[in-house]
Amino acid sequence: MSKTQAKEIHLRSRPDELKAQGEPTLDNFRMVTVDLPELQAGEVLVRNAFFSVDPYMRGRMNEAKSYVPPFALDKPLEGASIGQVVQSLHPDFPASTWVQGLYGWRDYYVAPASQLRKVDVSQAPVSAFLGLLGATGLTAWVGLNDIAQIKEGETIFVSGAAGAVGSVVCQLAKLRGCRVIASAGSDAKIDFLKNEIKVDVALNYHQADVSAVLQSAAPEGLHVYFDNTQGPQLEAALANMRSHGRIVLCGAISGYNAAVPGPRNLGVAIGKRLRLEGMIVVDHLHRMPQFLAEMVPALRAGRLLHRETIVHGLEQAPEAFVSLLRSGDAHIGKLLIRV
Ligand code: NAP
Repeated sequence: MSKTQAKEIHLRSRPDELKAQGEPTLDNFRMVTVDLPELQAGEVLVRNAFFSVDPYMRGRMNEAKSYVPPFALDKPLEGASIGQVVQSLHPDFPASTWVQGLYGWRDYYVAPASQLRKVDVSQAPVSAFLGLLGATGLTAWVGLNDIAQIKEGETIFVSGAAGAVGSVVCQLAKLRGCRVIASAGSDAKIDFLKNEIKVDVALNYHQADVSAVLQSAAPEGLHVYFDNTQGPQLEAALANMRSHGRIVLCGAISGYNAAVPGPRNLGVAIGKRLRLEGMIVVDHLHRMPQFLAEMVPALRAGRLLHRETIVHGLEQAPEAFVSLLRSGDAHIGKLLIRV
């Protein structure tokens, strides 16, 4: 076999919940060189080009029961990846085929081809299949279409709006003819939202009184809140929802490192007849064909912006991941590691 060893990032220890508010530290990770197994029939050797680091991975670093099992200690972390077949013992996956899988946090891997999906990279830039055209974009698209059932002319508030999911939500809502109020945590992100995504109102939630901005930007109330953060922004949104409004509970990043209290005003959901619905994107993978049929032409026609921040080098992945969980300027759009 042309390549006999691979580098992998392993989980060395779990974050200390008592230290630094449960923020992961670089010594929770370790880069390890491993021997690759011999290729067996039906398997391929893949060289990763990009992999995704995502907020949900923080939950998997804890030894807690969730909708995905925890990462195992002294084993490679996992996550979405895209790369090219280098060597193949599967007739349908010849060398050079681009494939997507859940083999992130490593440079090379051997896997059964049946666990991988071919990607047609003539359609869009390779990295877009992990962002705008991948699970990130699908989360935004399903959240808006299937969960919020958004309609033209409605007013939507999006938190985490300059991030991977949020920036797609804002764009899709604008394309749908909605009024978009967007929040993010830095001036550079506010510039991006105003000048590139062209939302109607952008606010820095560290500086603004979020509830007061919502009240003045949407005096009749919000039809939809796309919640990526929970915490104080969920409270502010609840206070400003209109009757029969819908809240998409997509993420709760304000509490991933250290739990934050639930909204103190959840009671208003009763009188306002609100619908709050949680979603997990893997339940909606059957929507992928229709999602791609809409998104690829929109991207090619320039109606959608594919914004990403690329960090170079496998060894940089732990630091990039730690910064993903912090507010600030470290990334705009989808954060990816270029291997
Ligand atoms: P992202 O928004 O690209 O990156 C995370 C961002 O969260 C940071 O850049 C930071 O932006 C913000 N943040 C960090 N700490 C915060 C805090 N204490 N309060 C408010 N915001 C904070 O990440 P993403 O991949 O698009 O994910 C966004 C959310 O969607 C996450 O909660 C994630 O878990 C969730 N998600 C859910 C699904 C699903 O299936 N339900 C799928 C994908 C993602 P600022 O600088 O603006 O604060």
